[in-house]
Amino acid sequence: MPVSSAVIPDGAVVVDHSSIVAVGSFEEIFSQFPDVPVTECSGVLLPALVNAHIHLDLSVFGPVPQESSESTMCDWISSLLAKRLSSNCSDDEIRDAAEKAARDQYASGVGLMLDISNRYLGTFDSCPAEIVSLLEMLGPSQAAQRDAITTISELPSERMVTGHAPYSTTPDLLSYIKKRCTAQNAVFSLHLAENRDESLLLIHGTGCFAQFLKDRGAVSDTFPIPGIDTSGVVGYLQKRGILDRKTLCVHCVHMSSEEMKILAESQAHVCLCPCSNRFLSVGTAPLEKFLDFGMLPALGTDSVTSNPQLDMWEEMALLRKNHPTVAAETILSMATLGGAVAMHRDNRYGSIEKGRTSDILHVHGEQYEKAAYPQQLIELLTSGGRPERMDWLTFSE
Ligand SMILES: [Zn+2]
Repeated sequence: MPVSSAVIPDGAVVVDHSSIVAVGSFEEIFSQFPDVPVTECSGVLLPALVNAHIHLDLSVFGPVPQESSESTMCDWISSLLAKRLSSNCSDDEIRDAAEKAARDQYASGVGLMLDISNRYLGTFDSCPAEIVSLLEMLGPSQAAQRDAITTISELPSERMVTGHAPYSTTPDLLSYIKKRCTAQNAVFSLHLAENRDESLLLIHGTGCFAQFLKDRGAVSDTFPIPGIDTSGVVGYLQKRGILDRKTLCVHCVHMSSEEMKILAESQAHVCLCPCSNRFLSVGTAPLEKFLDFGMLPALGTDSVTSNPQLDMWEEMALLRKNHPTVAAETILSMATLGGAVAMHRDNRYGSIEKGRTSDILHVHGEQYEKAAYPQQLIELLTSGGRPERMDWLTFSE
């Protein structure tokens, strides 16, 4: 299942150490490469899944439940902060839990992930998946912005930084971080439109985020944003020069058609996190409309604090259920190619194609072998949750 092209029944992949050399039907490949040793396997070969949004440093805290059905996302953020403050976890405990979560992601078929953490976790020797880590910064007031800029300016020049969200980060701090990302040619990832109250805060200075800042005694010298266009937060980001092809907007649940058009025209990327959105009851992202605008969103799990399963197969299955008119192939593309393109790593990930990584996912089991036609296989993979039998074919050693 190359993803970038149609399913190849009785297919074959030729690999040379870490890269794919050729893909096609076994017959055609065998005639081209008659002397290459053959490893036979039944089942489905897939490119690695790409988890385009995870917070590994939060793994140590486990799920943080919503207090009640009336709780807002701000109540949940308060619970998360309280858990963080009271947990007294050591740096080693945070790192160990993060490394275990990364290993679990790899075991579930994730070969590449974009990690957004509030601390530097270093590299994980026990996890073969590739992890791109961005240090997440926020600062809702002028004083917090000054502190954040001082922290960033003292970091090693190669360390990659990103901004948390428009509701938690001043306009100038977002611009400062985006400029740094552009200079490094790095991806700038931003939580965006996860909750309706984000635009209430930015445009009117009201809603649960305004209350949240007030309760904490934070001086509201940032919100509402002076002169913000009432058309919405996306227009505000565009005017500040935040949106371009290296910007990844995460969640995007509450967005008008006009805002989606701005995102599409700016060539920014979108990452959906359906299981986290369900857990926090913030709504369902308008996937069909993003597809109509010619965008292929990426998929991410977000952190275990808002997603106990942390499983890309569950993300696909929930999308399939929430958006029955979206083709199963599209959902599989989101979990693979969509993430690779959003991370600008589609030269190695996202598809089984010449030049891509030779770390290939092998899913097997009776139900896949019994599938009568390719469509049935794609349906099984996208709607059935995590396959019971799955392993990695790795040739890079
Ligand atoms: Zn997140």
